Amino acid sequence: MLDDQWFNEAQTATGTAFSLKITRKLHEEQSEFQFLEIYETEQFGNLMVIDGCTMVSTRDNFFYHEMISHPVLFTHPNPRNVLIIGGGDCGTLREVLKHPGVESAVQIDIDERVTRLAEIYFPELCESNNDPRADLKFIDGIKWVKEAAPNSVDIIIVDSTDPVGPAEGLFSADFYKDCYKALSENGIVVQQSESALLHMKILKEMRAEMQAAGFNHQQTVFFPQCIYPSGWWSATMASKSDLSKFREQDATNKGFETVYYNSDIHKASLAMPEFFKKAFA
Ligand code: SAM
Repeated sequence: MLDDQWFNEAQTATGTAFSLKITRKLHEEQSEFQFLEIYETEQFGNLMVIDGCTMVSTRDNFFYHEMISHPVLFTHPNPRNVLIIGGGDCGTLREVLKHPGVESAVQIDIDERVTRLAEIYFPELCESNNDPRADLKFIDGIKWVKEAAPNSVDIIIVDSTDPVGPAEGLFSADFYKDCYKALSENGIVVQQSESALLHMKILKEMRAEMQAAGFNHQQTVFFPQCIYPSGWWSATMASKSDLSKFREQDATNKGFETVYYNSDIHKASLAMPEFFKKAFA
């Protein structure tokens, strides 16, 4: 905190910091798993912070929630059963349920308190929580995927915190092997994969572990995300089958509202920066 006017997230490892001008602190609590804070900001609406890291703001969460869900959903030929690991603020769940072909969306977050706070401070993100296709459970996603029936899920979206604390195991080879088993033949796992500018080491490790787990096809998509370190974020898809094409016509005629995602943005988000191409050539 710079002073009582600003929320400040300083990332020692990357020598960067991000601040938002706040009007007041609305809530704080230590849950069983994490320290949760909610602020009212001057220009970004409400802000949720977990263990000192920005998670979601009213104003700019659409970038992340739309880009972690619509590219993977329009890449899969016919996504019906979707599993969300993490996602406690429920913004990803809302985007997934915009797809009429989705028959079930199970959300597994370890910390029920995140969802309960989202219901109060981000009600717009929770507007689909009572959709009959939605099923919210509060347990460890690592355990859930390990015990999932083989071939039972078309898409796994890992919308977790950074690879520390309870989320660390969600970035491991063992977890990806369990995802591989749980996914159907043309199933796809997509995971928030940090910033390619600041966290290439994590991205390289993730993609190597996904490869080692048997996912021969990987695709990282890039998008802005103001409140995260560097403001430039990514999500990485991994699959048993080809990821180079997507249902462009369906994406163009998507039939639901978004703020950022459309088929042009989808195409553009697949373009790899030169340094990224070289790193994974
Ligand atoms: N968009 C945010 C980001 O990229 O950092 C993530 C938002 S969401 C709030 C992150 C969620 O991951 C939290 O609700 C946290 O409880 C959940 N989480 C962390 N570790 C988990 C685990 N092992 N199983 C299930 N959920 C987990």
